[in-house]
Amino acid sequence: MKRIYGYRCTLCGKEYPYGPELMTCPACGEKGILDIVFNYTEVKKELNRDTLKKDRDNSMWRYRALMPLKGEGLGKFLRIGWTPLYESLRLGDELGLKKLYIKDDGINPTASLKDRASGVAVAKALELGYDTICCSSTGNAASSCAGNAARMGLKTVIFVPERAPKGKVAQLLIFGANVISVKGDYRQTFELSKAAIEKWGFYNRNAGINPILTEGKKTVALEIAEQLNFEPTDWVAVSVGDGCTIGGVYNGMIDRIPKILGVQSTGCCPFVDAANNHRDLVPTPENTLADSIAVGVPRNPKKALRAVEKSNGRWIAVTDDEILAAMRLLGRTEGVFGEPAGVTATAGVKRAVQEGIIRPDETVTVISTGSGLKDVNNALRAAGEPFLCEPDIHVLEKSGRIR
Ligand SMILES: *Cc1c(COP(=O)(O)O)cnc(C)c1O
Repeated sequence: MKRIYGYRCTLCGKEYPYGPELMTCPACGEKGILDIVFNYTEVKKELNRDTLKKDRDNSMWRYRALMPLKGEGLGKFLRIGWTPLYESLRLGDELGLKKLYIKDDGINPTASLKDRASGVAVAKALELGYDTICCSSTGNAASSCAGNAARMGLKTVIFVPERAPKGKVAQLLIFGANVISVKGDYRQTFELSKAAIEKWGFYNRNAGINPILTEGKKTVALEIAEQLNFEPTDWVAVSVGDGCTIGGVYNGMIDRIPKILGVQSTGCCPFVDAANNHRDLVPTPENTLADSIAVGVPRNPKKALRAVEKSNGRWIAVTDDEILAAMRLLGRTEGVFGEPAGVTATAGVKRAVQEGIIRPDETVTVISTGSGLKDVNNALRAAGEPFLCEPDIHVLEKSGRIR
């Protein structure tokens, strides 16, 4: 493939030519997460501002030249990506920002940004002739894997930690996945899936490891750039678990790179701790209701740290209460319903403005990474219960609920 030179290890820097598919660096082993190195001169022959203007493909596959795929049969997939970028009508004012955009990735086919990575994984598994794809996940990686695989006729084996929210597990079962619910945390779930992949030879869609997944996730940034006429905002804010999404956001910003705000929950913030204390990541507990970013041992530390460092961005942590408040705030001001991890970046922007990290005259894009319908329990926790009323207009009037 002329468009791709090969792989480069994020740890040792060693390069490997593109040919056999590599999962991790042969020299460094499992920790040697790889980057895919593109030949942009070749890519630009297929993909540039002119071709984009003419391309009617309103999905993430409009950027197929920037993906490590042969690119056949992509039109048959569920429609992934090309999600709306809304200019904020009220939230920006409330936060005290000049200009704010909201990228709503909750409206992807299985209702999270993970569809971007899973779409590429399913395409790759098919390209390589696998019949089963396997993944371990707190939920969204799994449901997106199962949904996109179902559409394309691929079998799925999914490992989830026992605490995964019911809505997400329901999605898996409906998509016909073979679901293994693991009595343990995310780390143990991951280890079991790894052993199963080695034993049965499934295609591996474990986000932190497989380098092609970041390449799918980067399409969110490519879209933001194109939707803003290649004049991105000063900041892009994104919630961080494994670190693959934020790494993709950085990879997808080609010409002008905005400052990237990486946001975690104070209950599980290994990246924030490491950055603030100028040391390596250490495993942390996973005490947050934002289950999609409750990752105590991130699998993709290098790409995430690099994204914030190279973009002159910042790391920030917000409490679970701030996350719940952000669910209400985003819903009430803009009509966008995000799950806790989905709105964590919004909570982070609010705090970053308060702390003077983001200045009022700066422009911001906040990514909402997943739909709130996946986690109704926490939504109700955030928003409270409705007013229970007798079917009687006088009672309603007396209650004072309607003025
Ligand atoms: C996975 C996920 C994230 C974070 O992505 P990472 O690659 O794990 O950092 C954020 N929000 C939602 C809704 C997710 O599912």
